[in-house]
Amino acid sequence: MSTTEWHADDIVKTVSADSSDLAAKIECDAPFGRRTTYRVGGLATCAVEVGSVAELLMIGNAATSCGAPLAVLGRGSNTLVSDSGWRGVLITLGPLSDWIQADAGGLETGEDLIIEVGGAVAMPVLSRRMASIGVTGLEWMVGVPGSIGGAVRMNAGGHGAELSDAIVDADIVDLRRGQLERWHIDRLKLGFRSSALDNHHVVLSARLKGSMGDPDVVSTRVEDIVRWRREHQPGGQNCGSVFVNPVPGEVSAGALIDELGLRGFRIGSAEVSTKHANFIQADSDGQADDVHTVMKSVRRRVLDATGYDLRSEVRLFGFDDVAAGGHGGDTV
Ligand SMILES: Cc1cc2nc3c(=O)[nH]c(=O)nc-3n(C[C@H](O)[C@H](O)[C@H](O)COP(=O)(O)OP(=O)(O)OC[C@H]3O[C@@H](n4cnc5c(N)ncnc54)[C@H](O)[C@@H]3O)c2cc1C
Repeated sequence: MSTTEWHADDIVKTVSADSSDLAAKIECDAPFGRRTTYRVGGLATCAVEVGSVAELLMIGNAATSCGAPLAVLGRGSNTLVSDSGWRGVLITLGPLSDWIQADAGGLETGEDLIIEVGGAVAMPVLSRRMASIGVTGLEWMVGVPGSIGGAVRMNAGGHGAELSDAIVDADIVDLRRGQLERWHIDRLKLGFRSSALDNHHVVLSARLKGSMGDPDVVSTRVEDIVRWRREHQPGGQNCGSVFVNPVPGEVSAGALIDELGLRGFRIGSAEVSTKHANFIQADSDGQADDVHTVMKSVRRRVLDATGYDLRSEVRLFGFDDVAAGGHGGDTV
């Protein structure tokens, strides 16, 4: 069966042979765009929330044997789905990976502790939970509305820190090889908003390092970050920064876009934010394809004016890069 020939029924039938319970959970023509912070875009051919590693392996095996693309969705805060949707199998983790374990009992100020955290946990939740028991090092996460799994995949960061500063290792399910492996930080190859992980890798959990501080001081830092975000970043429908900084720490994508006077640049229902030039906002009843068109136009203008070829940070699902003229990012 070629990748274009498969249908949702093939996935359901293949899974049924292993587990009728899992097959019953598969949703066909499932909302996808609605599950992203952009809240625009179409459907996924199939979607399923897995309840165990065994189920993860079954759905991975079914997608692979049918030739269907697959991907894991975290909080959808770095994802744009085309209006015509995405032909693929979307996996979510739910309670299987929604847990935090950190035992700070008996530790003195300055001592390190290991935090074990599931891949589905929202970063702001982890940040606040750790602040409440005085663990420092993860304050920055309060401003990034993604999951731990998404953070590992993207090497998320902010406020002078990034995931690679804290992570020790991660438990990864490789859906192609059908096995659960512990990946040490070196193997993850965390770069600026990038990692060695591909779509067939699922971050089940991660072990992060924090250290003991004063709960009041840590909580104040968390609230300062929340305040800073409110002052400097727009609300509404977006995915945070759209383009990766071309020279991290030296040349920012936002500054390049700003210098061209593109704040407020609009096509249809999408525009470059007037508050932050590297954010592209979608209207509440907007179109994903307008967001994509603004991305391409901004990228072309920056390339023409400065020579910097911006790379998309947002993961694009269901867009045809070649036909679209290129957005400089990964398509799924
Ligand atoms: C308002 C706003 C502010 C933001 N600010 C920042 C910021 O300061 N710094 C920053 O780095 N990012 C920022 N982002 C972007 C985004 O929050 C991060 O990239 C985050 O890490 C994405 O996590 P997610 O769970 O939402 O990923 P998703 O959008 O769900 O997925 C993104 C990618 O990660 C993969 N993925 C998700 N979960 C898993 C998993 N469990 N296992 C394997 N792969 C997985 C997906 O397949 C996809 O390729 C911001 C976004 C918004 C909306």
